[in-house]
Parts: sequence; structure tokens; C-alpha cells
Amino acid sequence: MIIRTLCNSCLQTFELVLEASDLSLVKQIADETGHTCPCPRLCGGSILLVGDETSKQMATDSRLKTPLRITGKELYKAIHGSGLPDEIPRDADVLESMLKANDVTGVSVEKVNDTIYLHELYLSNGVTVHLASGQRGAQVLKMTKERDNGSRNHR
Ligand SMILES: [Zn+2]
Repeated sequence: MIIRTLCNSCLQTFELVLEASDLSLVKQIADETGHTCPCPRLCGGSILLVGDETSKQMATDSRLKTPLRITGKELYKAIHGSGLPDEIPRDADVLESMLKANDVTGVSVEKVNDTIYLHELYLSNGVTVHLASGQRGAQVLKMTKERDNGSRNHR
């Protein structure tokens, strides 16, 4: 089943490719009615999970961004903070040159007892680099773009 839908906040359009095996995952992220779930860009908006005439029309509106094709599993992972396929860096050189070319304009740090945790780096080009602890050290979980309205990701 393929559902074209869009976020009511950031206006990102999605093409959800849902297999029968994805439905139990999707149920876990949906609201009580099963009709919407949080936007996987984590912008604070929500997307419809059911085929709807309005969203179908809006999803084919050429002024909107090209739909991002994602599976039910990718939707689930993105809502849990792992990033959408286009947010997960694949190339270490891209990350390195981005860090060298841009100033760090802000950080998200947290101090718990005597340990300092660095969660996010905000770069001058509007990109947020999200870090997580991986098996070998700090892992770049995802890189997200600042939206037109200046809001950043909620996670
Ligand atoms: Zn959104």
C-alpha cells in the first residue's frame, strides 16, 4: 500500500510504502484513532496515515517539495529519532568539509554529575549535527536542516 501524505507543519510530502508486515510498527507510532502520526522530520507537526482526498491533492501540488519515499520501518525509526534516509550521513568527507566550512553557532550540552554530554552542534549553514554514543565513540546519528521558519528539530 502506498500513501501520499504531507506534514501539516513543515509541508514535507511523503510517499509511505507500507507492507503488511509494517502495520504493527506503524500502529505503535499512530495516535489512538490510527489516522495520524508525528511528522518523521520531528518538526512538531503530524502526517495523515490514511488516504485522504485533500492530502492527495496537496501532495501533487507542484509548489510542495518532492515526496520522500519511505517504508513503514523508516517512518518508525525516524519518529524514534534515528533520522530519515536523507538525514543520515553516508559520507565522512561530506561531514568533515561541512564542519570545516561552517562556524558552530550553538551547541546542546548537558552536565550530569561530573560528566558532560554533547548532543548537538548547530552550524552557521542551518544544519544541526545530532550525536549519539556508538560502540566506538561519538556517532553522527543524523544531520537536519533548519526550516524556513527558523525552527530546528525537536530532537
Ligand atoms: Zn513536518
